[in-house]
Amino acid sequence: MSQLDAGTKLEDLDWAQRPRILALKRLGLQTLGDLLRHFPRRYEDRVKFDRFPDQASETPVCLFGVVKKTIYRRFGSRRIFEARIEDEAAGVLGSPLTCRWFNMPWVQKMIAGDQRIVVYGKPRVRGKQVVMEHPEFEVIEEDAGRSLHFDRITPIHPAGDGVTTRVLREIIQRAIQETDLSSIPLLWPGNAVSERVWSDVHFPESAEEQEEARQQLVREEFFGIQLVVCSRHAAARSQGGTSKLGDGHFWTKVESALPFELTLSQRKVMEEISADLASPHRMNRLLQGDVGSGKTLVALRAMLQAAESGWQAALMAPTQILAEQHYLNFRRILDPLGIPVVLRTAARKESSGGTPDATPGTGVLPGFEATRYSKRNLPHFERPWAKYAVTFTTRERELLSETARDIVLDAILHASGSRYHLYAACVMPDHVHLLIEPSMDEAGNFCALSEILHSLKSFTAHEINKAKSRTGSLWEKESFDRIIRSESDLQEKFSYITRNPWDNKVVPANEDYPWVWWPGRDDLRGAHASRVSDPASRRIPPLVIGTHALLFENAGLERLGLVVIDEQHKFGVLQRSRLIARGDAPDVLVMTATPIPRTITQTLYGDLDVSIIREKPAGRGKVITAVREPSKLPDIIKFLRDKISEGRQAYVVYPLVEESEKLDVKSARVEFEKWTELLAPATVGLIHGRLDADEKELVMRKFREGTISVLVATTVIEVGVDVPNACIMLIEEAGRFGLSQIHQLRGRIGRGAEKSYCILLQESPGEQAREKLAILEKTSDGFEIAEADLRLRGPGDMLGTAQAGLPPLRLGDLIRDGALMTEARKVARGLLEADPFLTDTDHEHFRRFVEKAGAQLAAAEG
Ligand code: ADP
Ligand code: MG
Repeated sequence: MSQLDAGTKLEDLDWAQRPRILALKRLGLQTLGDLLRHFPRRYEDRVKFDRFPDQASETPVCLFGVVKKTIYRRFGSRRIFEARIEDEAAGVLGSPLTCRWFNMPWVQKMIAGDQRIVVYGKPRVRGKQVVMEHPEFEVIEEDAGRSLHFDRITPIHPAGDGVTTRVLREIIQRAIQETDLSSIPLLWPGNAVSERVWSDVHFPESAEEQEEARQQLVREEFFGIQLVVCSRHAAARSQGGTSKLGDGHFWTKVESALPFELTLSQRKVMEEISADLASPHRMNRLLQGDVGSGKTLVALRAMLQAAESGWQAALMAPTQILAEQHYLNFRRILDPLGIPVVLRTAARKESSGGTPDATPGTGVLPGFEATRYSKRNLPHFERPWAKYAVTFTTRERELLSETARDIVLDAILHASGSRYHLYAACVMPDHVHLLIEPSMDEAGNFCALSEILHSLKSFTAHEINKAKSRTGSLWEKESFDRIIRSESDLQEKFSYITRNPWDNKVVPANEDYPWVWWPGRDDLRGAHASRVSDPASRRIPPLVIGTHALLFENAGLERLGLVVIDEQHKFGVLQRSRLIARGDAPDVLVMTATPIPRTITQTLYGDLDVSIIREKPAGRGKVITAVREPSKLPDIIKFLRDKISEGRQAYVVYPLVEESEKLDVKSARVEFEKWTELLAPATVGLIHGRLDADEKELVMRKFREGTISVLVATTVIEVGVDVPNACIMLIEEAGRFGLSQIHQLRGRIGRGAEKSYCILLQESPGEQAREKLAILEKTSDGFEIAEADLRLRGPGDMLGTAQAGLPPLRLGDLIRDGALMTEARKVARGLLEADPFLTDTDHEHFRRFVEKAGAQLAAAEG
């Protein structure tokens, strides 16, 4: 028989009938080659069947028997067909099996008494019978001896309407016989796939032969994936990036103010990232590090380097609350150093507004819509292009020395022009007047008045404290600020401020007072400015904190030089590709707190370089994890009470798997009241997803400050909370959480030096839950836990939509075939190193494959 090319269309085969061809097309099969690549989804050993079960099981079994009886019944609108099957070989000793189908009338036409039949499914026990509901089945011909279908390892191919597995088996066998196997396009350099592979994978003679063939094809499949992701990596790198050198001034400041030493791991990844930023290539990097390993500082350093080079740097978080936590955290570190940070989230787009309660009385100004002053809308001091007269005083009217007054005026003059326009300023011995108009900074961000005041005050307080070796707060809240309503109002305020020292007789009329400034008094400005030589007070674009969503809106992120994506799980290949496509070609750093198993990293994040933080900061106490049944609660409560009376704090967590999952506020309340009662007199707080951001922040702050001892919470605490004094975490219904999720939660304790306790409550856990929870008792290594999670739950969760834009996995198993993925990656990288754009004629089919995947990605993006 002459052999046909693998590209031969099914229409051109004389043995394929029209309706069949249509059915095959519905399965996506058009050519002989497609048929050969239509792999079995499983195999049945039809030599040695399973024994007829006498109990239920979660593992499906494959049975061979004779149909003894069929029954067809109707129950109202329900139609039930039953076939009773017996194992002939076992005779009367065997237990019969009832197969049952609901509302599938055609099954009745296919099964009749005395037929021999193979069924496959999970046995259940219903009453006294062992039953299979809707099993897969195949009737075996009367005279079938050893054949394609029987007495051998039999492939079960994915079938469809108009073409059964049995028919497919025959068609595919014929395709194997008639195709010139050497003409099947292979995606593997060299000739590593033998022609026998095709018959071995479809019709293996033994399990070993099948596995051998499968591995060869998996190697090819994985190579395809690696070709796509590694090309993407190469393409992203070749897309012109910019070198961001920075000079390290700001980071040096930050680092020297840290109360701890960086870990070696932190230093190492910082160097890797810094080198990436400095190189002219685009950075595309994944930073992995367990919860609490200190990724935030790594991000901060990278952002400062980009900002020093004149680029905007943004840190994006998946949720509003995490963005806010990062923002507060950054402000705590950066405000004293005078480094600007802004918060951009959907809820609060304009700016941060750290002290929204700082403007008593302003709501009654005439000529202003009252709604502007509500909490939900921007208060007037957040509005651009308004002029204000502001006064702030020292705490308890403490007098500022001349040096201190220098520092204050320097700071005011320094930021003028970049963050606001200054009409006049006067630093009096115990208070400060400003006439000021907030504006856009270079990066196009509007600077809120509240923020300007906040950073002026904290910067000057820090500097003065340092100069005077004093501590404590220096300033009162703004005692007075008002919006300027007219030109004459402005004039009036201007002369009031610029005449203030003389009008108030602080200095005699004929003497100078060097701490008052107005435009034109540039002698002063020059004198002061020259004294401002502290590099940390040089200007850089503010660091931006926001939510992921903002990257794709037109949120005024311009000249974006670096994007750090925190907690990447909801951030797949697709979004990354959109990010990479941005005109400003930002460097990208993706951070994940859930360690990802290597195989997944190589697949989903295969287009990224990887940095890993392996150690945790020293001096962290051990976390002891224990699984307990709720019957032990009295002991646990006693333990909790003891710890609380020693001054420690605790979390009680409820399983709300998704933040979006509807929270039953009532039941959260009930739990909250229960714990309040159980632990009285300790103060208990409640936090859940339905609270608005301010309410959440209030509760969190109280917990941080220690006014609340126990926090009853849903998973919102998974992110952002850092309270080293909290040393107990009680997780209710722990079995409902994923392993990695509990591991994340657990990362909230053990942050101080003391021993911490994580108690996993679970009512009579099933076997799987027990196995799962036991892993947490045993190890605290995030990578080990991630591998276990992958093993227990399969890759589904991790792949999900994130896989969009990658070739589908048909044979490969990310859990079992990790080594093959590594091998495929090596080969693909080697190939691309020699021929990055696959222009070599030998590589043309590789290039076409990559282009096709690229087109699919573009289509997925819509
Ligand atoms: P994650 O990697 O989970 O994002 P964070 O960056 O939030 O971790 O760091 C957790 C805590 O550890 C923070 O309070 C941070 O200030 C602190 N930290 C970071 N690096 C170190 C270090 N080298 N030594 C001690 N504490 C550190
Ligand atoms: Mg973090």
